[in-house]
Amino acid sequence: MKEFDYIIIGGGCAGLSLAYELEIHNKLREKTLAIVEPRLEYKRDKTWSYWKTSDHNFKDCVKKNWTNFSVNIPGKTKFLECNEFPYETIDSGLFYEKINNKLNKNENISFYKSSDEISLSNAFVFNSVPIFHSKQDKLWQHFKGVEIETKKNVFDEEIINLMDFDCDQRESIHFFYTLPYSKNKALVETTWLSKMTNDSQKDYDDQLQDYIKNHLNIKDYKINYTEEGAIPLFYPTISKERNTINIGTAGGMTRLSTGYTFLNIQEHSKYIRKNIQTIPECKKYEINKKYKFLDKIFLRVLQNHPNKMPHIFFSLFNNSPENVIKFLSNKSNLLQDLSIIFRMPKWLFIKELFKNDK
Ligand SMILES: Cc1cc2nc3c(=O)[nH]c(=O)nc-3n(C[C@H](O)[C@H](O)[C@H](O)COP(=O)(O)OP(=O)(O)OC[C@H]3O[C@@H](n4cnc5c(N)ncnc54)[C@H](O)[C@@H]3O)c2cc1C
Repeated sequence: MKEFDYIIIGGGCAGLSLAYELEIHNKLREKTLAIVEPRLEYKRDKTWSYWKTSDHNFKDCVKKNWTNFSVNIPGKTKFLECNEFPYETIDSGLFYEKINNKLNKNENISFYKSSDEISLSNAFVFNSVPIFHSKQDKLWQHFKGVEIETKKNVFDEEIINLMDFDCDQRESIHFFYTLPYSKNKALVETTWLSKMTNDSQKDYDDQLQDYIKNHLNIKDYKINYTEEGAIPLFYPTISKERNTINIGTAGGMTRLSTGYTFLNIQEHSKYIRKNIQTIPECKKYEINKKYKFLDKIFLRVLQNHPNKMPHIFFSLFNNSPENVIKFLSNKSNLLQDLSIIFRMPKWLFIKELFKNDK
């Protein structure tokens, strides 16, 4: 069996981001790396978006960025600006292509379809394959998006609609998300926050069709691309093997109140690269505990009071956009945290704070 210095299990967002970060900082000149990835071909399968609060290696994979966004509940819309931290979207197809082109040039990097072909015992392993013991009774952000193209110019390409709660909630939490790439192309997503036990929420195609026709008033369009997924709003079981670090979703890089993961993955990759010489002894990288604590209470409120959530999300944005964005991107200071907390319905949150975990 072949031996390697490092092994990355899962060549998705986290695995490839880490390999690229190590490669461009010359950490793989004298070290060998195996990437285990079962997929047969890389093609565009995700659209990664975030407020750009930190730098990353993939500027050339950015499809578009925006400095205006809106949030709405029935009868009310907020228009907000984010000039300091634009909302940015990465095309996963460009991301995979850029990284694989770079990695393929280094003979020290090998690709495998299964870990059965290599020896894991003497290598340092970075694992991005999560273990989900019980999927039931857990919250997920699940969604389907379509990139549509229209004949006429119908979109205002300068502004995204981050959350449109003016839709059927079905005793759960549901919103639409629209990213206009140009005047006649946009990604429209239907998104649910729920335990995924209710299959009736998964008629995504009907939801999208109805929203596009009756809400966006677009009758004539074609679909160029679709994506579907579910982001766990809980931490997957962590395997605590010696000489293994979990990365990506498996490594707890998702911000549980929002599902945002991409930039946390980039920051984790940088941390590993900086500490690669001493990685077995290195302190575990994690999302700051204050966010984990606050998100836990937020998710309890969300789970127990779904009907209140559209208003709660809406009032989150009663704050300055800078405060909200920094808070949602793990970059806020204490004053900014407090300004967010004070705009939440206090008694509801305090009650959930003192409830025991089930
Ligand atoms: C459709 C979609 C859209 C998203 N949009 C956003 C967004 O806009 N912003 C944001 O911040 N986050 C977003 N996320 C969340 C998160 O950023 C992504 O899920 C991201 O891809 C997580 O990276 P990862 O490496 O942990 O997982 P993945 O990218 O899923 O990579 C895991 C890899 O492991 C491989 N694999 C599976 N089984 C095995 C095995 N047994 N052995 C070896 N390899 C295996 C898979 O083929 C895959 O390539 C989105 C998620 C989805 C699903």
